[in-house]
Amino acid sequence: MLIVMRQDATREQIDAVIRAVEERGCSARSIPGGERVSIGVLFNKGPIDPSGFQDMPGVKDAIPVTRPYKLVSREVHPHDTVIRVGNVKIGGENRVIIAGPCAVESREQTMSTAEHVKKAGAQIFRGGAYKPRTSPYAFQGLEEEGLKILAKVREVYGMPVVTEVLDLEHFDVVEQYADIVQIGTRNMQNFSLLRRAGEAKKPILLKRGMSATVDEWLMAAEYILSEGNQNIILCERGLRTFVRHSRNTLDFSAIPVVRRESHLPIIVDPSHAAGYRDQVLPLSRGAAAAGAHGLMVEVHSTPDFALCDGGQSLYPEQFEGLCRQIRAIYDICDESLDRGGSGETV
Ligand code: PEP
Ligand code: MN
Repeated sequence: MLIVMRQDATREQIDAVIRAVEERGCSARSIPGGERVSIGVLFNKGPIDPSGFQDMPGVKDAIPVTRPYKLVSREVHPHDTVIRVGNVKIGGENRVIIAGPCAVESREQTMSTAEHVKKAGAQIFRGGAYKPRTSPYAFQGLEEEGLKILAKVREVYGMPVVTEVLDLEHFDVVEQYADIVQIGTRNMQNFSLLRRAGEAKKPILLKRGMSATVDEWLMAAEYILSEGNQNIILCERGLRTFVRHSRNTLDFSAIPVVRRESHLPIIVDPSHAAGYRDQVLPLSRGAAAAGAHGLMVEVHSTPDFALCDGGQSLYPEQFEGLCRQIRAIYDICDESLDRGGSGETV
């Protein structure tokens, strides 16, 4: 249930409502809005009677939440969440392009890729220092040395960096270096990792599990939000299906569904969806036109020599072309998109 306070509600009235929620054995979460405070009721075992709250001083309304996820839902938070990372805004009317190699392989490869993507128009740099590889014999990442190289990218090129955390053990060190902490498809339902992400001070980029429904994905985000971290970027990266012509199948319809159901930004990773370089541009165009708040694209200065995902990594000049086309699509869509509210920075 969501208890919406009146605009002129006093601190005492808000506290009285929170106490009344807690007396019923539930948790209360204050959700500050532009004009008024709302209070989310969490951990209720069954339906709660709204009439007990509707008559309390300062209460405007008490609305049952019909979805299994609460804090991530638009019912609870009608305006788009806008996340600020450095000078970059993600969500609402803003559109972001994140780019970089699959993995940080060396200082030279990372810095030269960063120079290219920055020049082409990327706002945020990506690169894995801890890599989730199918084979234990494949390159696993440079670990902390890789994080230090990412810090150098931020320093030299002024781009915030996003990098993946694989486990609880390395969460602290990744959080220390990253501007955005990524949780990958294989960890979408690693609930202890999600809870730790909820305590993090950095935004979380939560990829969709390769076999997860949209509801399961939003429930995973709910774990993070329920621990207090409101800065979550959802990332659709394709589902495992029977097809062989692409690595995964990009679920375009997840974009409007997530935008309808949740206030969180949703971006698309066309690279892991495609698995092949020649599909990355068409999927990117589709995602931009379908209303994604941004893209995260794998780019490598020399893809033919990449230690990881070279076949889906764009050459720098291909990425330049992609940025040009995507910006043109954003311009067209800006005129017609229902952007779901004016946006609210958290
Ligand atoms: C990645 O972005 O580096 C990655 C491993 O992606 P995913 O978790 O979507 O496979
Ligand atoms: Mn990759």
